[in-house]
Amino acid sequence: MRRFQSVKLRLTLWYAFVLTVLLSLFAFLMYAEFARALYRDTDKNLFYQALEVEQSLRRYWEKMNPSAKAGRLDLKPASSLETVSRLQEVLEKWKRENRLLGRSNLMIRLEAMDHKRLLSNLGGWQREIIFPDFERDSFFMEKGESFQIIHFQNQPFRLYYRLVRFRTEPVLVIQTADSVQEIKRALQRLGFIILISIPGAVGAACMIGWFFMKRAFCPLDSIVRKAREITGDHLEGRLPRTYAGDELDRLAETLNEMMDRLELSTRAIQDFSSNISHELKTPLAIIRGEIDLALRKTRSNEELIQTLGVIEGEVNELIRLVDDLMLLVKSDAKQIHFEKRKVALTDILRPVAERFRERIQTRKIDFALNFIDTPEVEGDEVYLKRLFSNLLDNAIKFTSEGGRIGIELKKSSRNAYIKISDNGIGIEPQMLTKVFSRFYRTDQARAHEGAGLGLNIAKTICEAHQGIIEVESALGAGTTVTVCLPLQH
Ligand code: ATP
Ligand code: MG
Repeated sequence: MRRFQSVKLRLTLWYAFVLTVLLSLFAFLMYAEFARALYRDTDKNLFYQALEVEQSLRRYWEKMNPSAKAGRLDLKPASSLETVSRLQEVLEKWKRENRLLGRSNLMIRLEAMDHKRLLSNLGGWQREIIFPDFERDSFFMEKGESFQIIHFQNQPFRLYYRLVRFRTEPVLVIQTADSVQEIKRALQRLGFIILISIPGAVGAACMIGWFFMKRAFCPLDSIVRKAREITGDHLEGRLPRTYAGDELDRLAETLNEMMDRLELSTRAIQDFSSNISHELKTPLAIIRGEIDLALRKTRSNEELIQTLGVIEGEVNELIRLVDDLMLLVKSDAKQIHFEKRKVALTDILRPVAERFRERIQTRKIDFALNFIDTPEVEGDEVYLKRLFSNLLDNAIKFTSEGGRIGIELKKSSRNAYIKISDNGIGIEPQMLTKVFSRFYRTDQARAHEGAGLGLNIAKTICEAHQGIIEVESALGAGTTVTVCLPLQH
């Protein structure tokens, strides 16, 4: 059963089957046409010979019975003895004078309607064959002529019967016969050649086909072997290519491209996991350190409260991180459901600014909220707040005490523009393209808290609202992040 699972074998078997059917059909048609042509020659010969005899006899009959020519003769050959004797007279004369019989190599026999043998010419044959009774041949009786094949002394003979009428009366039957032994032999030989050559040709074609198929499928075997070696741990392997541009080469190319993508996403998952563990490790280590310190010796209430405060801060950081991660995982799986409705951006930005007011004041930052326009957009309030919180959090985090932060809101005919600018540490120009990557943080930012997820989340939310987010920055001079969202019309 397993053997039939081979495509090569299945294709070869189908090929053999179709070839056998086609060759058999062709051979059958050829055999039939060949046989028809051979028998047609014999039949023609038998027919013309009988016709010649008939015409010659008619001439003699008319010569010897002038009244017949005038149409006055009313023959009743089967019943009239006189007619038979006159016919025999005519035949005797015809036999004597006519050379036709001597020339013919066919068996010719003339029989009266009462089965009386009138004449028999053996032609080139030793013995006369026994002609079957013509009255039993219903076709002959109906049409007045017919062909038959009989076997006489193990030899096949083709017979032709021809009814001769004078006016409408049947007078005699001319029978011609010839052996078709040679034809039969030729046909047997042809049949034998066909029987031998069809399986031979099919076998040879299958062997050649199998050889070429094996060659054609050879790359497939090496693809299968190589594919087995490629596992989750060894994704760097690639399938061998022939560069012939054929189907198998294209298959290998497509699978290789697929593996490139798989390798990339596997690497991304691996990086993601290692980044997550790294980000989780720091707050957990701080929490454990604090707990160890608290347990080592008896602590005063104030000291314990201070420790718990540190732990609370780290736990909040962990919660925020897990929250961010969950959002990203959901976004990757396209499972975030945005409840979009018409929302005024001032109603988003004001509460966001309010949430950070204490931090801004503590750090003595000069903060300006400038609403030039009051555009409305179609969006999810919760997620939009998260977007701007992430941006404002960055601005505050990366701006030193006494710095300056501004939020500007304006619109064009189609879009709303939200600019959050600061005069903080800034970003090196070559790093600007990377800041939206997950877990990416510039060297200058490492002194601050954070996992490097805020901008990535902001970009995800922005794009889900058909918006664009851009960063302009100069190292040491400050950063401006611009969010562009389509207006709600
Ligand atoms: P998280 O947002 O997860 O707490 P994070 O703030 O470090 O961490 P992102 O908000 O994604 O991460 O910012 C990525 C990096 O881009 C930051 O680490 C920082 O290097 C740079 N960056 C972002 N905003 C500013 C800014 N306003 N000024 C200077 N650098 C910035
Ligand atoms: Mg951030």
